[in-house]
Amino acid sequence: MKNAGLYIHIPFCKSKCLYCDFNSYAKSESLIEPYFSALLEEIKIQSTRYHKKYDTVYFGGGTPTAVDPEFICETLLRLKECFEISPDAEITAECNPKTIDFDGLLKLKNAGINRLSIGLQSTCDGFLKKLGRIHSFEDFKDCFQNARNAGFQNISLDLMYGLPSMTLADWENTLDEAVGFGAEHISCYSLKVEEGTPFWDMELSLPDDDLVADMYDLAVKKLDDAGYRRYEISNFAKGNKTSKHNEKYWKCVDFLGLGAGAFSCMDGKRFSNALGILEYIKKIEKNKSAEIMREDLSKFDLMSEFVFLGLRMTEGISEEEFSSRFGEKIDEVFGESLKKYTTTGHLIRENGNIRFSNEGFFVSNIILSDFV
Ligand code: SF4
Repeated sequence: MKNAGLYIHIPFCKSKCLYCDFNSYAKSESLIEPYFSALLEEIKIQSTRYHKKYDTVYFGGGTPTAVDPEFICETLLRLKECFEISPDAEITAECNPKTIDFDGLLKLKNAGINRLSIGLQSTCDGFLKKLGRIHSFEDFKDCFQNARNAGFQNISLDLMYGLPSMTLADWENTLDEAVGFGAEHISCYSLKVEEGTPFWDMELSLPDDDLVADMYDLAVKKLDDAGYRRYEISNFAKGNKTSKHNEKYWKCVDFLGLGAGAFSCMDGKRFSNALGILEYIKKIEKNKSAEIMREDLSKFDLMSEFVFLGLRMTEGISEEEFSSRFGEKIDEVFGESLKKYTTTGHLIRENGNIRFSNEGFFVSNIILSDFV
C-alpha cells in the first residue's frame, strides 16, 4: 500500500486576482482565527477516521503565506501529532511574493516546511498588473532570496502563458529570467478565462490557439535546455525534485483534504468539504464534519481516472499496474481508444508502458476525453 498525502486548504488571499476561480477570499481577515480553530478541530477528528501513513503534506490555497506564519506552524504541529507522517515527508507551502518576509519564511522552515511553491506567474510587471497580482518582479526577487536565505533548497515557481496581448518574445523573456533563479521545479500553466471571474466580463486580446501551442512548445524546449525534465504536462523538475504530493493525484494514490472546499480521495471514495469559510467553520462546530459531498467511485471511474490522470505524466501508465489494480487487462476496457491513438502516433506503447508522444502532449486534452 502506497503512503497517502495530506492537503490543507488555506482560503485567504490579500486580494483577489482578476482571473482567479480558486476557493479563496480577500478581506476576510476577521475569519482567520476561527478558521484555524476549526481546521485544528477537523485535523483531530479526521485523524481518528483515517489511519494511514502519510509522506506528503501540501498547504495550498488561497495563499498560505497570507496569514500569520504561526497559524501554519501550529497546524503543521497538530498534523504531526495526529497523523502518522514520515520523518522525511515532503512538506510544501504555496507562497506568494509580498505576503511574507524573511522571518516568516524562517518560521515555516523551522516548523518543518521543506518545499515552497512560489507564484511568480510573470517576470514582467505589466503582465502582473494585468492579472491583478499584488506583487512586482522585484518583490518576487526579494521573496526568492529570502526563501533561499531561510534555507529552502526545494523551490518551485509557477508561471503563466497565454496572457492577454502576450507575444512569444514576452513569454521567452519570462522563461529566460525565471530559469536564471535556478529553482528546482517550474510549473507552466496557460491562462484559462473562467466564468464568474472579472476576466470573463472583460474584453481581452488573448493569443490564439496556435500561438498558445507555440508558447507551450517553447517552454518545453527552453526548460529542457536549462535542465528541467518535463514529467507531467505542465510540470518540469531538475533531477528528482518532482512534486511528490502532486504525483499522488496523477498516480491515483489516496489523499485526504482538510479545510474549506478541500477534496479527498480515500479508499475508493471521493468526498469534499463545504466551500465557504463561514459555512466550513459552522459545520465543524455543529456536526464535527464539514463534508457536503461523498460518492463511491465505480470500478470504471477508478480505471478511467487511472488512465486519464496517469497519462498526464511523461512516464505514462504501466499496463501491469492497471491489471493488478483492477483485475482486467487495459485492452479489455480501453482497447479501441488505445488502438486509435497508437496508430496516429499520439500514444506510444512499449515495454508494458503507455505514454504520450510529443505530438500527443499537444492534443492531450482531446485524447484524454476519450478515456472518461
Ligand atoms: S493569489 Fe492565487 S488564490 Fe489568491 S486570488 Fe490570486 S490566483 Fe487566486
